[in-house]
Amino acid sequence: MMARPDDSGYDPEGAVRSRTAIVRRSFMPLLSVPDVDAVLAELRPKYHALLAELIGFASLYGNEGPMQRRVLEEMSRLGLSVEVVKSRDDEHALNLAARIPGTDPPRHRSLVLNAHADVVPVDPASSWSHPPFAGTVSGNVVHGRGAQDDKAGVVTVLLVVEALRRLGLRLPGDLIVQIVAEEETTGNGTRALVAAGFGADGAVICDGTWPERLYHAHLGHISFTLRITGDPLAASNERRGVNPVYVAMDMVARLRAHVAALNADTVPFEGIEHPYFVNVGSFHAGVWCGSVPAMAELSVQMGFPPPASTTGMMETVEALAASLSPRIMVEPWLLMREPYRGDPAAPLIRKLQGIVQANGSGECQVMSITGYTDMAAFGTPNVCLYGPGGGRNSHGVDEHYFLDHMASVARNLALFAADWCSSPRPELA
Ligand SMILES: [Zn+2]
Repeated sequence: MMARPDDSGYDPEGAVRSRTAIVRRSFMPLLSVPDVDAVLAELRPKYHALLAELIGFASLYGNEGPMQRRVLEEMSRLGLSVEVVKSRDDEHALNLAARIPGTDPPRHRSLVLNAHADVVPVDPASSWSHPPFAGTVSGNVVHGRGAQDDKAGVVTVLLVVEALRRLGLRLPGDLIVQIVAEEETTGNGTRALVAAGFGADGAVICDGTWPERLYHAHLGHISFTLRITGDPLAASNERRGVNPVYVAMDMVARLRAHVAALNADTVPFEGIEHPYFVNVGSFHAGVWCGSVPAMAELSVQMGFPPPASTTGMMETVEALAASLSPRIMVEPWLLMREPYRGDPAAPLIRKLQGIVQANGSGECQVMSITGYTDMAAFGTPNVCLYGPGGGRNSHGVDEHYFLDHMASVARNLALFAADWCSSPRPELA
């Protein structure tokens, strides 16, 4: 039987009468694990189907609109009053936020559950075992771009909201749902929602972790395009001019040597052994073998630890380019993130780690990642990534997600939200 507000022994009005009463009420009286699991078992098929459906939206940067409109529909169905905040000047940059008001928000901690709707490009679709935008389910696995990163996160957050609603739980603190665009590029989606007043005392980003992992730190990233002009001569006259492909090759060699030197001289960052990297993600030049290309164009991403910064890294790239050839133009691209190191002992991380450990199958590790996240946007040490569970090949070919991880992550998030939003704010404790 599900716990209802009347029979759970939990009385939100009573809970706020004295601080000691609040402190004594840990999450156990609020939610029982068997009750949460029972609700999640009931809801699971619906949310697995929703995930498969959402993978069908090719919500790349600049095309997030249809996916976000579908998510908005689902949030409205859950009874949420959704605010749409734009992060770009087009009809696709829709960032969704909904506040589930607490019964005593000034005195209790608020929590954001955040996930992102945008996905990264597919290269090439023909090499995928399953169509990347079909959401094919085979057994416990759902395939497709965004299956793990981060449409499973979007669906898990909605599942938590519906489970809490079904359990009839009224939390003392506000619970805020954020489903954002642009996480894979600018990070402006989450920033826009926080600036619009949807920040909180703590935030959990449901993106990119296995069920027994939390992420508290990530590398910095820069991205840029190199445009190199050539002399478009006939192939037989190539000695008379500059082939931009050869300049590009020299520039890439310089970048790689620079990164190798930095790594040789750098201590590991939060367990990441070689925290600098460079990746050439695309390289286009010329039209056929009979001509020297007029232009070579490369897109490049680099990662770095603190104290390096996006500004410093871009200046270094520009200096390397200038010292090699005046033909190289460096143009910054969308992805620019400072490195981030949160406090692994922050109350939110400790609390969530304890809940995951108590309900999971082993030790919950607090780790760093070589990727990037929206953690810094929340402006609080009480932030981390958790969920939506395991899978493989995010940003690669044949991305997929393990569906049986969703319910255990959702259970831990529901237990955590109930606990966090029932705790007094630190200034009142
Ligand atoms: Zn992600």
